[in-house]
Amino acid sequence: MEIPGGCLCRAVRYTIGAAPILTRACWCRVCQYIGAGSSTVNACFPSAALQVSGELGDYSMVADSGNVSHRRFCPSCGTHLFSASEARPHLVFVRVGSFDDPELGRPTLTAWTASAPSWACFDARLPSTERQPPPAS
Ligand SMILES: [Zn+2]
Ligand SMILES: [Zn+2]
Repeated sequence: MEIPGGCLCRAVRYTIGAAPILTRACWCRVCQYIGAGSSTVNACFPSAALQVSGELGDYSMVADSGNVSHRRFCPSCGTHLFSASEARPHLVFVRVGSFDDPELGRPTLTAWTASAPSWACFDARLPSTERQPPPAS
């Protein structure tokens, strides 16, 4: 399997040579900033399967868990592309909106519903969790 994608201005392009380990819609408060008011949809892959061309910006912060996470984006157009935790460097989460074909990133879980605003739309067909789901592995 090969999943191509990149940012809005195409300065950053990537290919992922693996199927997603899992795909989630995340309504945590941080994702609402990145998602402009909605959730983000993120697919998790082995880091080794991701190949990137182009320069990335990196915003790092300490998560509630105490782990440092990095959010990487195109410094030219601002599209958020990847996130990763220093505690799990073998995994990368890719923003599904940056896939060339977002159909490949159908979420299977809705996370952090407790942080969502009252007007949020959840997919009733999906299982959900009020807070952080268990780690991908
Ligand atoms: Zn860009
Ligand atoms: Zn989130």
